[in-house]
Amino acid sequence: MQKYDYLIVGAGLFGCVFAHEATKQGKKCLVVDKRTHVGGNVYCENIDGINVHKYGAHIFHTNDKAIWDYVNQFAEFNNYINSPISLSKGKLYNLPFNMNTFYQLWGTKTPEEAKTIIESQIKQFGVKTPKNLEEQALSLIGKDVYETLIKEYTEKQWGKKATDLPSFIIKRLPVRYTFNNNYFNDTYQGIPIGGYNKIIDGLLKDIDVKTNVDFFEEKEELSALANKIVYTGKIDEFYNYKFGNLEYRSLRFENIRLDTDNYQGNAVVNYNDATVPYTRIIEHKHFEFGKQKHTVITKEFSEKWTQEKEAYYPINNDDNQNKYQQYRALSIQEDNIIFGGRLAEYKYYDMHQIIASALQKSKQELS
Ligand code: UDP
Repeated sequence: MQKYDYLIVGAGLFGCVFAHEATKQGKKCLVVDKRTHVGGNVYCENIDGINVHKYGAHIFHTNDKAIWDYVNQFAEFNNYINSPISLSKGKLYNLPFNMNTFYQLWGTKTPEEAKTIIESQIKQFGVKTPKNLEEQALSLIGKDVYETLIKEYTEKQWGKKATDLPSFIIKRLPVRYTFNNNYFNDTYQGIPIGGYNKIIDGLLKDIDVKTNVDFFEEKEELSALANKIVYTGKIDEFYNYKFGNLEYRSLRFENIRLDTDNYQGNAVVNYNDATVPYTRIIEHKHFEFGKQKHTVITKEFSEKWTQEKEAYYPINNDDNQNKYQQYRALSIQEDNIIFGGRLAEYKYYDMHQIIASALQKSKQELS
């Protein structure tokens, strides 16, 4: 008899939630991760008393009360509201696109004035069924917002022309005719006080964990330890890239400690212009309203992905989706392997969606 019911490959949110739920049902789990720490991309590194979101800024938001209650079991959340600023051609603009942004762009003071401009620009463009991100943006918000706040940021972020990107990416951004700078429309939002590691530690309490373990280097020995595998890594790697590589976008982070208590006055400042090499600067202390005399900022550079780099964003265009479907067809035939999470499902997931998916898959598996 095997020692474990489940071998969980990857200690990110999907793997940790699955392990937690399975353990609650009396199952024995072993969680392995190739990094030196658990938590996947929500891991925070404490630098000089500041929780630095090491793999990119994570702001928790959800409309689902059950998901909100779930994460609140493990950590208390503060009342942080994400209100990013964008710098474009020397001027600052509020995001998401709202009455403040429209005032900064055109001096419009009422919703009617702003709507008149936006609707005339949408009409001028005249496309009813957008086929790509550029067409989606132009038919949603018009030329001025697109050219000032979307085009260059998006092309820098994805390393592709906006005309070669899927339209769903831009649907993430709300458009509002109120003076409301909240980036998200969700009812619940915040940052766990003390960082995301508290949630991960709570999820993995009393569960066997091994870090520094590369699943593919010890596949046979590890697989023999458990009845079933929960795999959260890259699905194309699992099948040895037999249908070819799935494409990702990678990121590079440059952390800088500064002897100032407040560098940019906001947690997130986006840099729209193509001439600036990074997409945004994160000042981590503002996520937790830090009072330190110093600060840590991170410049985020978007990079071409290669196999030795971290895979951050799946590039869900048609070519990649078709390839993914071939891998998925294999994965659903597996009796003893459960695939889940951003890399195994090749999906641009937010944290709350990953948790919902892990809860649903674990329920299905364990019932
Ligand atoms: N975006 C943009 N301008 C901005 C911020 C975002 O055009 O200032 C677009 C861009 O295409 C990006 C998408 O909106 O990929 C989603 O951005 P968000 O910040 O929500 O995603 P994240 O990178 O944080 O997952």
